[in-house]
Amino acid sequence: MYPDLKRKLLGVLELDAYAQGIGFDPTKLLLAKDIVVDERVRMHCQLNLCCNYGHNLMCPPFLPPIAETRVLVGKYTFALLLQMQQKLQQSDKESMRQVFNETARRFGQLAVTLERKAFSDGFRLAMALGAGECKLCSTCAIQNGDHHCIYPGTARPSMEGMGIDVGKTFAAAGLTLEFRSDQLTVAGLLLID
Ligand code: SF4
Repeated sequence: MYPDLKRKLLGVLELDAYAQGIGFDPTKLLLAKDIVVDERVRMHCQLNLCCNYGHNLMCPPFLPPIAETRVLVGKYTFALLLQMQQKLQQSDKESMRQVFNETARRFGQLAVTLERKAFSDGFRLAMALGAGECKLCSTCAIQNGDHHCIYPGTARPSMEGMGIDVGKTFAAAGLTLEFRSDQLTVAGLLLID
């Protein structure tokens, strides 16, 4: 067992370095068992505070039930937590929303690049989770009644959409999610088998 575990660990550390090289900063390795899944996060989706519930194919109710998320996360060994920081020039709500959307879109695309790198390195079932609702299309297909995603190879759910408590999970890795008026933080992760 030991040689395989050592190889796996080295592969995960290489992925971490790769993630930093393509723009994630900071990154942090966590055991997947320390990811916090909480029904209340899903309830917040159902309260529709962000107005995406039922309006985006990468958001509930189109995502697995929380019980399935627990099983799914439990099948992974590691999670590479990813953050991306973006300076804010203006702190009004609309400007912040625009910067968040642009940063989260870039974050999602890079997270899928990282997932593909993990796949080619032998982590066949690695899976990236992004931030917020999928923003690849200006209007999600579901809003036109179409249940087929336009970019199934690139669209990924968010951590929170899957029922993961982002703050507690990052805290478990010793990272804080800062809420500042001059800088925003986008967060996601890569699950590694
Ligand atoms: S890629 Fe387009 S259709 Fe697919 S989930 Fe994202 S916004 Fe919706």
